[in-house]
Amino acid sequence: MSASRQIVCGHCGRINRLPADRAVTGARCGSCHQPIFDGHPVEVDEAGFDRHLAQSGVPLLVDVWAPWCGPCRTMAPMFERAARQLEPKVRLLKLNADIAPSVSARLGISGIPTLLLMHGGREIARTSGAMDTPKIVAWTMAGLARP
Ligand code: ZN
Repeated sequence: MSASRQIVCGHCGRINRLPADRAVTGARCGSCHQPIFDGHPVEVDEAGFDRHLAQSGVPLLVDVWAPWCGPCRTMAPMFERAARQLEPKVRLLKLNADIAPSVSARLGISGIPTLLLMHGGREIARTSGAMDTPKIVAWTMAGLARP
């Protein structure tokens, strides 16, 4: 019996089941044939967020942001670079609080940018304020190392 993990495609949302012992890097979606991880955060709306939260076999790093938020715009390229370092261990999502206000309300987001580390449908850690790429990566790894 071989273990497998579920990875939600960042392009079409299809749930892919990959053997845990196979390298995820370079794997392509069974539905849209795009790379399952392409080194970029995935922009999600409410439905997309819920899908990843419920189905992702890898932890999620969620950037809650809004277009009018200066620090969010400052952090965007840093978050983008963090994706290249954290994938495929972690799936990076970008959630626009203006487009999905119900999600940020549900999560109790009080200020942006906020980073959330989530796995198995629950929150592992959260932090607010803009961070550079090394800090984002270090904060994520520290959160994942926590029991
Ligand atoms: Zn796909």
